[in-house]
Amino acid sequence: RFITLEGGEGTGKSTQARRLAAALQKGGLEVVLTREPGGSAGAEAVRHVLLSGAAKDFGPQGEALLFAAARADHVDSLIRPALAAGKWVICDRFIDSTRVYQGAVGAVPGALLDSLEWVAAAEARPDLTLVLDVPPEVGLSRAAGRGEGADRFESEGLAFHTRVRDAFLALAKADPARCVIVDASGGPDDVAALVWSSVRERLVP
Ligand code: C5P
Repeated sequence: RFITLEGGEGTGKSTQARRLAAALQKGGLEVVLTREPGGSAGAEAVRHVLLSGAAKDFGPQGEALLFAAARADHVDSLIRPALAAGKWVICDRFIDSTRVYQGAVGAVPGALLDSLEWVAAAEARPDLTLVLDVPPEVGLSRAAGRGEGADRFESEGLAFHTRVRDAFLALAKADPARCVIVDASGGPDDVAALVWSSVRERLVP
């Protein structure tokens, strides 16, 4: 089974991905917890290039190719083999982040992103995507509270984050068979309970 967590900054994706992995492991399942951009040696190297700002001269299209290169490596070397071995894969960001950041709020035509998605992810499609949703003010203040140096994607303003949120919600609503919107404005335990009930309802027999 393949589960992805998606959403804007400070929605708690990484925390919830870890907690979900732990809960499934406790139930005796073999779980691989991973993230994008990154998740494999090659893809982590590309992540560094993307987030450090070193890729800004590539322009939006070149940057989309880098994201796709990272994904291709991640899918080939980690995700596909794990799924083939019957493991559960939990990934913090995946195809919907590309559709939102490079597509809906970015400058890359949807048709190009569709082709890249097909090349990089091919048949590795999430069975379930949890879109963690918080008002952008909340997400931004959580992200700021983490005290991490803002990378180039995190230094955008409230208007940008509002567009990101709206784009994630629109994607989720367009594909209800795969996506569940999770209210992530509560504390970590509350959100974990909502995540767990969606996973149980959709995937755990
Ligand atoms: O999930 P995390 O915060 O580590 O993501 C790193 C950054 O990369 C985020 O700020 C996100 O906005 C950006 N990103 C992106 N396009 C993607 C995936 C992530 O712009 N496809």
